[in-house]
Amino acid sequence: MSFQKVDILGVKVASLTMDEAVRQVETYMDDKAGVLIATANAEMIMRATQDGVLRKILNTSALVVPDGAGTVWAARHLGHPMPERVAGYDLAQRLMCQAPKKNRRIFFFGSAPGVADQAKRKAEQMYPGIQIVGTRNGFFSSADEADIVGQIKDARPDLLLAALGVPKQEKWLHAHMAELGVPVSIGVGGTFDVMAGIMKRAPLWMQKARLEWLFRGLLQPKRAGRLLVLPHFVFKVRAYKK
Ligand code: UDP
Repeated sequence: MSFQKVDILGVKVASLTMDEAVRQVETYMDDKAGVLIATANAEMIMRATQDGVLRKILNTSALVVPDGAGTVWAARHLGHPMPERVAGYDLAQRLMCQAPKKNRRIFFFGSAPGVADQAKRKAEQMYPGIQIVGTRNGFFSSADEADIVGQIKDARPDLLLAALGVPKQEKWLHAHMAELGVPVSIGVGGTFDVMAGIMKRAPLWMQKARLEWLFRGLLQPKRAGRLLVLPHFVFKVRAYKK
């Protein structure tokens, strides 16, 4: 399957539906492709405009999906079709939901100590039969890295979900993907925090009204400052069109 890619401020984002994204990730797992998948929201794209290393990683990833209303808006504003938002959290849930019947092995890497374990318990409740073959928190020093790589390799996951925040998760996965040999790795940001009940997702009506960014900005004071990125993003995308 190949998808049209839309250049948004220098980041090439795939134009695809959630169903297509799920099918593509399943194919990568079947093929043991050894690929990286990123979920790009406006904040990540803005960061990539200033961080050439991140931008290069995104543009050499197998797939960058449109996470966030801002990304979908930008693509459409630039005159390209973008069927819908493919949120990292939702993509991860869809893959976990199919994992038992497809016999997939999944590793949870990232978040504060205990959170990935809590998310694992939640996944086991929500998706009976799921194999979460390992967990590791996301706070470590460079001296621990070899150990972490070893732990992931020994667990032999088909899917590695990494929640270290942007751009740490993308950079870490890119640096270690060859050594890890995991079929598919995805940076999933706050997914374990939400699964563990530490962080809430916006109510469905707000997600549908494309206001999830506002909810997150208001709920997490440390994100409030990040809300300022959004008008800047809109401004830059408008200028990019000309
Ligand atoms: N996180 C981590 N290690 C770090 C920094 C952050 O594991 O060194 C985790 C953090 O606990 C959270 C996740 O990364 O669970 C995503 O963080 P945040 O929501 O701040 O990042 P975003 O994805 O929005 O950039």
